[in-house]
Amino acid sequence: MFLYGKKSIEQLETCDPLLQDLFHQVIKIVDVTILVGHRGQLEQNSFYLMGSSKLDWPDSKHNKIPSEALDAAPFPIDWEDHKRFYFLGGIVTSLASTMGILIRWGGAWSGEINPKGAFNDLVHFELTSNPFKQKHAFDLNAGFGAIK
Ligand SMILES: [Zn+2]
Repeated sequence: MFLYGKKSIEQLETCDPLLQDLFHQVIKIVDVTILVGHRGQLEQNSFYLMGSSKLDWPDSKHNKIPSEALDAAPFPIDWEDHKRFYFLGGIVTSLASTMGILIRWGGAWSGEINPKGAFNDLVHFELTSNPFKQKHAFDLNAGFGAIK
């Protein structure tokens, strides 16, 4: 079993309780670090200007209090090793589905792996109220395609 470091805990505590519950389950399966939960105005605007975010303040779910989004990466971080980010994305989305938490992952905005050339944000996980986004999710209790 893995444990979060102090910085990850601090970031996780800025997040919606549903995201906190989810990521306390995720770390039982795979080592992960929480990069950021809530993001303030200055930081959001600089992310927007750098192209790291498509959204300006206060439109990102990172800007909500508590935050409705978090960025997480497989630990230890190797930004070149994309396979591990997809592995983590699969674990997080599957667990969320099993827990009945509706989330959207930046590696599969529409519920399927992003098409070539699309904006990939492999560290980004956000709460969503749109069940359509979950239609391809895997439910451990009911099997593929169980969620409509
Ligand atoms: Zn994000």
